[in-house]
Amino acid sequence: MPEPLTPGELLSLDRQHVWHPYGPMPGTAAPLLVESASGVRLRLAEPVEGQDELVDGMSSWWSAVHGYNHPVLNDAARGQLERMSHVMFGGLTHEPAVRLAKRLVDISPEPLQHVFLADSGSVSVEVAVKMCLQYWRSLGKPRKQRLLTWRGGYHGDTWQPMSVCDPDGGMHELWQGALPRQVFADAPPAGFDAAPDEAYTAHLRELIGRHAEELAAVIVEPVVQGAGGMSFHSPGYLRVLREACDEHGVLLVFDEIATGFGRTGALFAAEHAGVAPDVMCLGKALTGGYLTLAATLCTTAVADGISRGALPVLAHGPTFMGNPLAAAVADASISLLLSQDWGQEVKRIETGLRNGLAPAADIPGVREVRVLGAIGVVQLDHEVDMAAATRAAVREGVWLRPFRDLIYTMPPYITGDDDVARVCAAVCAAAREG
Ligand SMILES: *Cc1c(COP(=O)(O)O)cnc(C)c1O
Repeated sequence: MPEPLTPGELLSLDRQHVWHPYGPMPGTAAPLLVESASGVRLRLAEPVEGQDELVDGMSSWWSAVHGYNHPVLNDAARGQLERMSHVMFGGLTHEPAVRLAKRLVDISPEPLQHVFLADSGSVSVEVAVKMCLQYWRSLGKPRKQRLLTWRGGYHGDTWQPMSVCDPDGGMHELWQGALPRQVFADAPPAGFDAAPDEAYTAHLRELIGRHAEELAAVIVEPVVQGAGGMSFHSPGYLRVLREACDEHGVLLVFDEIATGFGRTGALFAAEHAGVAPDVMCLGKALTGGYLTLAATLCTTAVADGISRGALPVLAHGPTFMGNPLAAAVADASISLLLSQDWGQEVKRIETGLRNGLAPAADIPGVREVRVLGAIGVVQLDHEVDMAAATRAAVREGVWLRPFRDLIYTMPPYITGDDDVARVCAAVCAAAREG
């Protein structure tokens, strides 16, 4: 056993040596030191604001839908660990990957039949883009290599995904001239229940038609735009995209990395619209938050197209492709989800969030409160003071990670009613003090 380090030593080494998401080096904001996690609670190595445990309002960025340290997922990981944690996927295959792929084909929209197992969400988007570009190259249309998306999106931090993230997010300015230049439609009008706006619908159709000759694909997050601004739109726009893409010979990619596995109240957000994409990306909740794994699914038409090309293979193959440990936990996580009335649990949390967040509408500086499925958002009319807002939530015994003008929560589906109420109280406290 290595020599134990005190919390103070760990935090000091962390500050000196360890990058955190979107952070400076050395670090400026002190992260909370987590010692363990179980159910919906994170246990801190030392008390902060008088709390040694925090109810997790973030599901570790959409992923830990069953909570932490779950006996079923622990068993799946342990069982697979004793067989093998990894073997290469080139020339070899194994039961966890095959089972998971078959499972994803069975539960996703019918036309999606083939699965590429990647190691993170961003990589699955890279693979999706590569599939689309390669498809058109194979069909003798190499000019079709741009992407169209709408503003307000987020698709990951590697190169192609960054090029379709919201261009007003700051990162685009930093990378101007370096990133591929994509085609941007206006952000979809807000409101899950709002009737589709005709002028906006016409805007989407016109833009896709105008750029059809150079477009490989349209890529969007269906129904919920996550890290780009936590906004919800009418599923009707997805039907418009499907029609316009079919009419103009453009592929349609749905990035369901955040929305997949029940978060919006449907197993996949595409189901709200009743349309299927040509390519779909999954990640985040895929392994119930245990390990990094993502998947890119495609139709037989896309796979056939690629396989008929001059280079008749999909030219991608990460070292840890199809990782057995992650695949085994993912399959167990999906079984666990489907073995219960997950829709009822998401609805229960939705009701709890609606009731608990309603008072936030009266807090000065709050612009809007919105809830969809197990997602609750309080949008301010100003940039949140992240340190003050986080501290206010911790004081209420809750972990939140606000950003920009947003204080939001997507709790694990196992969160009990009392804990949902507690999370809501913390969101309100953060809105008051942030
Ligand atoms: C998180 C996210 C990604 C990126 O996934 P990583 O695993 O962080 O690379 C891509 N698209 C959407 C919609 C996401 O929410």
